[in-house]
Amino acid sequence: MTDAGALVLFSGGQDSTTCLAWALQRFPHVETLGFDYGQRHRIELDCRATLRQRIAAQNSDWASRLGEDHTLTLDALGQVSETALTRDTAIAFEAGGLPNTFVPGRNLLFLTFAAALAYRRSLRHIVGGMCETDYSGYPDCRDDTIKALQVALNLGMDRRFVLHTPLMWIDKAQTWNLAQDLGGRPLVDLIVEDTHTCYLGTRGTRHAWGYGCGTCPACHLRADGFRRFAADAVPMPAGG
Ligand code: ZN
Repeated sequence: MTDAGALVLFSGGQDSTTCLAWALQRFPHVETLGFDYGQRHRIELDCRATLRQRIAAQNSDWASRLGEDHTLTLDALGQVSETALTRDTAIAFEAGGLPNTFVPGRNLLFLTFAAALAYRRSLRHIVGGMCETDYSGYPDCRDDTIKALQVALNLGMDRRFVLHTPLMWIDKAQTWNLAQDLGGRPLVDLIVEDTHTCYLGTRGTRHAWGYGCGTCPACHLRADGFRRFAADAVPMPAGG
């Protein structure tokens, strides 16, 4: 195992794309991992190849560091989502804004599979976009959860993995700022145009902050964050 390689949980959304840029800035070799678990909407997964290609095109160092992409199929996750258990249930948001497609403990499973892959690929660093600040009630996004899992994975696999969560303590406006710091306006524009966060999987309307239904909790967070980011941003030079 080298100390240098990283594996990024990369779904094709705003957060994981920012995490990918963060990792490319830090580690000499970065691989990506996506999960296919029969998501209602495959838009995020479909964005991934485009994002990888365009993010590499923005920076020659990043291009040289970006390694393989992996996709793992986890059909069992679809089998334990509420919409799968009650087939006639429409997508709905429960108290706290959790969609009923939410799978309890999903991030625990993702990180465990990521560690198993990182073990095989001899990658030490695992990077995920979990965030406690905008934490919408997902207990498996909590910092303590991730730290406990790091201990469990290292004991259970006899490795010294380091789980990185660069977004843990920042809000959505600061996530846009982080993208700007990492890759300037081109990276912000890429995230606006080519990432997908909306729970409903709609890409019909292009808002200032990107595509989405504009009304689901994920769109609200993304839109509100972008508004606050744009309000604070130093105006770009003309043509910049
Ligand atoms: Zn939405």
